[in-house]
Amino acid sequence: MNKRYIFTFPPDIVNRPVVSEIAKHFDVMVNILNADVTSGREGKLVVELEGEEDNVVKSLAYARESGVICIPLLKQLQFDQDSCVACGVCTAVCFSDALTMDSEKWELVFDPEKCVVCGRCVRACPLGLFSLAMES
Ligand code: SF4
Ligand code: SF4
Repeated sequence: MNKRYIFTFPPDIVNRPVVSEIAKHFDVMVNILNADVTSGREGKLVVELEGEEDNVVKSLAYARESGVICIPLLKQLQFDQDSCVACGVCTAVCFSDALTMDSEKWELVFDPEKCVVCGRCVRACPLGLFSLAMES
């Protein structure tokens, strides 16, 4: 299975190596898609967990026992690419680089693998070409 989660680390455990422990002990690959971590303050990671379902479940239980709040990302981004006029506005708000401009073709490039479903582009696009939907 392959699932995305928001991991929130309370300030007192923000320096604990929970993610590396998961990879080491549960045979689960952890891709960090986005990180906002500062020592002494609450930290947030957007992670993708990939592995056998049983191992992912165990790794989530371990993270929660360690004090991490784990919330699944249940939404996905939908994009009406055919109507895009390549104005580039959305690329300025996409901090994960899921939206970039191809400077040679002057086309918007969307990489769903990098999207952390933050919703910023939904608000930014003047033509309203993005929407969020629940994962099926
Ligand atoms: S929701 Fe939009 S702004 Fe946020 S990461 Fe995905 S493409 Fe980028
Ligand atoms: S803001 Fe909308 S119209 Fe402009 S490049 Fe992004 S998706 Fe296309």
